[in-house]
This record gives sequence, C-alpha cells and structure tokens, in this order.
Amino acid sequence: MKNCEYQQIDPKALATPSPAPTPSRPCLEKKPKRLKRKWEVFPGKNRFYCDGRIIVARQSGVLPLTLGLILVTSGLFFIFDCPFLVQHLTSCIPVIGGVLFVFVVISLLQTSFTDPGILPRATPEEAADIEKQIDNPINSSSSYRPPPRTKEVVINEQVVKLKYCFTCKIFRPPRTSHCSLCDNCVERFDHHCPWVGNCVGKRNYRFFYMFIVSLSFHTAFIFGCVTTHLALRSQGGNGLVFALQQSPASALELVVCFFSVWSILGLSGFHTYLVAANLTTNEDIKGSWSGKSGNEESGNPFSYNNIFKNCCSVLCGPMPPSLIDRRGFVPTEDEVRAIPAEMELPSIKTDINMVGRGPTSGHAPPPFLPPNP
Ligand SMILES: [Zn+2]
Ligand SMILES: [Zn+2]
Repeated sequence: MKNCEYQQIDPKALATPSPAPTPSRPCLEKKPKRLKRKWEVFPGKNRFYCDGRIIVARQSGVLPLTLGLILVTSGLFFIFDCPFLVQHLTSCIPVIGGVLFVFVVISLLQTSFTDPGILPRATPEEAADIEKQIDNPINSSSSYRPPPRTKEVVINEQVVKLKYCFTCKIFRPPRTSHCSLCDNCVERFDHHCPWVGNCVGKRNYRFFYMFIVSLSFHTAFIFGCVTTHLALRSQGGNGLVFALQQSPASALELVVCFFSVWSILGLSGFHTYLVAANLTTNEDIKGSWSGKSGNEESGNPFSYNNIFKNCCSVLCGPMPPSLIDRRGFVPTEDEVRAIPAEMELPSIKTDINMVGRGPTSGHAPPPFLPPNP
C-alpha cells in the first residue's frame, strides 16, 4: 500500500502550558484572571457555540434553510402521506422514511458542526522563523531552487508544489487550500458548502458524503411514495385534480422533491466518482492532476489506483484529531514566559524531503509541525 498520508500530531500532545494557574506568590497577590479559551481569540471567520464545542462558518445562513426544507418536506410526508400509505400498502413506509430522515439530519449536523480540518496559523515567532528560512534556504548548496514562496515535496515519485499562505504564514501541506469565506487553511479542502454552512475538508468529508447519499435516497423515497399516494387516490376515474384536492400537501412535496432530487442525485454521483478516484472537488475543478493546470506530470499521487482502497481511505480511514484545539486555554503571559526557550518554538525546521528534488519518500510531516518524535 502506498504511503501518501500525512502523519498528524495531536495538538494536545504538544507542549501546551497547562490551564492550571501558576502558584500565586505571597507578595504578589493578583486578581485571578478568567482564562480565555482558544476559540474566543480564534483568528478565522468562524462562529463557535456551546463554549467552542460547535464550530460553523460565519455565513451559515443557508444551513437553517437546508434544515427547514428537510424538516418541512419530511414532516408533510409523515403527516399527510404516511397514514394513507400505511392503510393501503404497508406499515414499512414510515419506518424506512424515519430511518432515512434520522440519517440525513445526523449526517447534516455532523458535517456542519465538525472542524473540517483547519490548520492553526503560525505564531509570530513561527512566522518569523519561516520568513528567515525563506530568505536563507537551508540547502542553498543545491543547484536547483524552487520559485520563491513555494516548496516542493515528492509524493509517490511526483513533485507536488506547496504554496505559502500569506494569511496563515505557513507553507500549505499538499491538498490544503485557504477558504476565503472562513479565512482558514483547510486540509484536504474539498469546497466551501453554503448549504451545510461549513467548509468540507479532511475531517468532515465522510459526513458530507453520507449526507448527500442519504438525502438522495430520502428524496427519491418521498418522491416515489407521494407519486404512489396520488396515483392511488386518483384511481377509479377520480382524476389527479381530485387527488390533489384531497391531499394538497402532497403537491408541495412533489414540487420540492422533483426539483431537488436531480441535483442531489447528480451531486452524489459526482462525489462517488471523486471518492473512488481519491480526488477532491477543488483538485477536480483545477485539474491539479490531469495536466489542466499546466502540470505535465499527470496522475493523482494520492490515489491507491484501486477503487476499494480509495473508498476505504477516504470514508473509513482514521479520523485525524482537530488541530486548532479550540477548547484549550490561551496561555497567560506568565505561562508563556515560564516556557523554556527551546520549548517555545515547536521546531519548525523544515528539512523534510523538500526544497529541491532529492530522493525522498512520500511521507512528509506538515512543514509547520515538528517531525514525529
Ligand atoms: Zn491560509
Ligand atoms: Zn469555508
């Protein structure tokens, strides 16, 4: 199996000062300051709820609309269609509808409220260190120099460019992109989805995929049931107009389902193709691995060249930890000063298979994190 995933380091495992206040000195009795959590000073354009447990994009106004459409359409179906269908067909219909509905809502909320894989911005010290490295590259002896503000890593014998993010002050790891709406670099960035009110990335793609697939089934199921309901009512020469008069809610459901089912089915199909190819929407649009972007070396270096392995790695791989540690405490000035100098900078020495085309493995830790201890 190819080794083309990054190793992530749990931010909690890094040397972060403990939230416990330092023992107060008897002569310097200060008022105990309220410790701030990191989400309160988070630099990106996100909103946090429940003391940082829930994270959504700032412009998440379409999420209530998505949720409302699902709730109203499903509600009308359960109230106006299910009783008739149970009476005339089978009592399995509300059970199947209920299971699909629960699945859709849970996966939608998981997509919306999960950190999509935001990368923390560099601290001023880290940024200064990276700037220094950009000015004086480590292997200046090498004849090859990549263009300024880019680095190169070799992944599965393919050179992948890493761009410098001027906002986050980091070299973006492969497949990472900066979402302009959320103002964060997101790992394995797929796209920003206004319907779910969040970026879709490394940590919530599987929920997003589950959401659109279950929603396809749910919409198609309701559409089929409502059509059957109206067909049964219009039997015996009653006509469709009579059936619609008998059950006017069905008309509304029919319209909503008819217009949404095609786009949702299309989207599910497209993402199934992406999952099978281990691609992201961002890469597919930009043509990152197909030569569209002027990259002569084609072929997706992250693909296992096996549909089953690609699906497993995208949908069932281990869930990487959230790197922003949004519920952690912001270290106080005293605590920052107490950290020994060598611990202050989580060494961002980036001598990791990059800058220059040396013989490298495809296994590089992110450039902003220290190599795995
Ligand atoms: Zn960025
Ligand atoms: Zn976003």
